[in-house]
Amino acid sequence: MRFICDFMLGSLSKYLRMCNFDTVFIKNIGDNDLIEEALQTNRILLTRDKKLTERRIIKENSIKLVLIKSDYLYEQLQQVKDTLKINFNLDLQRCIKCNTVLNQLKKENIMKAVPHYIYQTHNIFLECSNCKKIYWKGSHVDQMKDFFNKYFS
Ligand SMILES: [Zn+2]
Repeated sequence: MRFICDFMLGSLSKYLRMCNFDTVFIKNIGDNDLIEEALQTNRILLTRDKKLTERRIIKENSIKLVLIKSDYLYEQLQQVKDTLKINFNLDLQRCIKCNTVLNQLKKENIMKAVPHYIYQTHNIFLECSNCKKIYWKGSHVDQMKDFFNKYFS
């Protein structure tokens, strides 16, 4: 299941990426381009904008969409889960910043790229080939895991 989020759903798009859902988020995109992108790439459109969902182009092309009702991330996730009958499992495989699938790095190649303590205490490092961000499964990942386990398992 692949998504495209409107500009009001930046946090939601990050959380979907954390669970390895392919999710496009473009900050400065007009409504027409957003709809066109959803159509072209066959993504489910997630939007907070009721007016947008009433457009003729949406109805004529039967674009799949979810009109997100809440401003709160937890409720947004809950609505997506309930509406689309999906499960959220934290799975660091996709860049949270840019949606690119991550590559595993050889540990010896990144000695200088991460803090010494992190290098000493972790064995698995992942890199985004697009924006070059490096990920490891640190305490922030444990917190996210707790969040998803608590509310969405
Ligand atoms: Zn990236």
